[in-house]
Amino acid sequence: MRPCCSPGPSRRHLLTGIAALAATGTACSGNATPSPAPTGTGPGYPQPQWVPAAATNYTPADRPDGHPVRMVIVHVTQETFPDTLMLFGRPGYRASAHYVVRSEDGHLAQCVRERDVAWHAGNAAYNWRSIGIEHEGRVDEPRWFTQALYERSAGLTAAICRRYGIPVDRRHIIGHDEVPGADHTDPGPLWDWARYMRLVRAAF
Ligand SMILES: [Zn+2]
Repeated sequence: MRPCCSPGPSRRHLLTGIAALAATGTACSGNATPSPAPTGTGPGYPQPQWVPAAATNYTPADRPDGHPVRMVIVHVTQETFPDTLMLFGRPGYRASAHYVVRSEDGHLAQCVRERDVAWHAGNAAYNWRSIGIEHEGRVDEPRWFTQALYERSAGLTAAICRRYGIPVDRRHIIGHDEVPGADHTDPGPLWDWARYMRLVRAAF
């Protein structure tokens, strides 16, 4: 199995990646600027674990300058937490997300800086204006969708919305399956949007 942000078998991720690379001319340079401390925290939470994605798997940028961050996109990995981090760190994997939340305890890892463009949506325009959050789980297995997972993710999303002035609503906090042209079905019917949005509003 591959995480939801896998490059294949869909060609769309690959095309998105190529488009993004063509736009920036920084393909596979391997010399991205040194990493400052991750910024993906909200009040009351520890710093995320920093597990950087390989430089081939995202586009360096300087958001929100020139490219405002306007939405959060919710994913489910279809992979374990450690395997997802391993794949994002693999050179040439050509997919990534900003954050990955672990199911059992809500532990948070950050793989791409928010100013950079992670390749998670399968749609270059949406990648450029969003933050991608992966949730450890499988779309057809309820046991992954723990309260800890929802709470930590909701706290993160609330912090992102505060940081960039993003409205806390379902037009700006969407699932991967709601991205135009997306051929992925995550986060799937087991993802409890009402519960999640309630938690995001409470944390906001
Ligand atoms: Zn996804």
